[in-house]
Order: sequence, then structure tokens, then C-alpha cells
Amino acid sequence: MNSSTSNSKCSTNNHVTFTISFTLIKGSMASEEADHSQGQIQIIFGPMFSGKTTELIRRMRRYSIANYDCLLVKNIKDTRYDKDGLATHDLQVENVLPIVSAAKLFDVDKKIVLESEVIGIDEGQFYPDVVSFSEEMANRGKVVIVAALDGTFERRGFHDILDLVPLAESVIKLNAVCMQCFREASFTKRTSAETEVEVLGGSEKYLSVCRTCHQNSSKKPSPRKSKQYQRKYGSEHVVDLTGRLDN
Ligand SMILES: [Zn+2]
Repeated sequence: MNSSTSNSKCSTNNHVTFTISFTLIKGSMASEEADHSQGQIQIIFGPMFSGKTTELIRRMRRYSIANYDCLLVKNIKDTRYDKDGLATHDLQVENVLPIVSAAKLFDVDKKIVLESEVIGIDEGQFYPDVVSFSEEMANRGKVVIVAALDGTFERRGFHDILDLVPLAESVIKLNAVCMQCFREASFTKRTSAETEVEVLGGSEKYLSVCRTCHQNSSKKPSPRKSKQYQRKYGSEHVVDLTGRLDN
């Protein structure tokens, strides 16, 4: 068997990516290039605001263009930005791919699930059966792509989501931008007073932060906010980290 195991680390301007790839195609590192005749599990980890849902949708659209039968599953509790479609934090709404809402993955209509070749799961950490469902579907020959928070606001494993790692063919951790110091952010910090692990919210309750800023709360001005930018938009405008311009 032409099996190969590879670890890679690559850096871009915006995020550092660790990819652990176990693939049956010799020389192939990208999960998207893996052998689609077999099932597989792909995991997209990262803190809040790191683009996990955007990356999930990008991969799903690619499979859809290649004529795979795709199904996106969004958590039934997640109606933060859009009731019917799947929305990212920057309010891009995916409503082209087939989408179902569920509290448990095994609750999704079995006929729809079994007819799908590629199953995307958003907010995977919220499903109590995400590990067993993903493994069963991959064993049935399906591509399962899970976007999930790897850690809680206290930097602990989110429920049992980390148990999926040894079962997966590929794992990636995306970084966001630290909302306090504008460096790379790998963690989520809660700014509200709730202490439960699961509290749904957006930028009103959470920040993406770096290691240092997870421990302190002093906010710094962006080093990238140039005079040219201020001339263009005025110094009173701020670009928030979802990319929106606000007054
Ligand atoms: Zn920071």
C-alpha cells in the first residue's frame, strides 16, 4: 500500500496552519486531494472569528461543483445570524447548499444522510454524537468535514471534540486576529460573566485572542492603522475584525 504520513507547517500573512495529513495517495498532502473513493474525516479547528465556517463552505462548494451530493448540518441552537441559511460571523450567508438543522447528528433524516456523499458539520463541538456519527459516516464511504472550536473560553478541550483527532484523515487549526493586540490569535476569550461552557454569542460576548491577551485585557491600537488609511476613512472610523467599517 502506498500509504504515507506527513506533517506540515506553513505560514501565511494571516494565519499559521498546522496540517496533519494521513493519506493513501503518495505525495499528496492536501486533504482535498485525497482519494475520494474512501470515506474520510476532515477537521477544521480554530478559535472564534478564525473563518472555520467560511473554510467549511469553501470546501463544500468545491465538492458541490464536482457534482458530489452535499449536505450541510448546522446546530439547531445556532440562529445567531440567520434562521435558515448558514451564516458566518461576517454575515456571509450560505443558502445554496442543502442545509438541515439538528440538535443531534443521528436525528437528521437518515435517508437524506445516506444519500449524501459529503457531509459538512458546523459548530461540531455542540453535538453530543459528533465523534460516533463522523466515524460511522466515514466508514460508510462519506467525506465528513467538521468545523469546530477545539477549545473552550478557558482553553480546555470542548466537550469530546478532541476525541475526533485520532479518527481523522486531516486536521487544521486556523488562527484569527487578536482583538486586543492584533497579533495571531489561537484562543477564544469570553467577555461576559457567564460561566457555563456553552454560551452562544458573537463579538458582544467573545474575543479571539493571543496567548498573552488571554491572560490580560489591555487593548492596544492597531499598528497597521496608517495615516493613509485615516485620510481615506477619517480617524473616527474603525474596521472591526469581521471586516466591517463602523463609525
Ligand atoms: Zn494579543
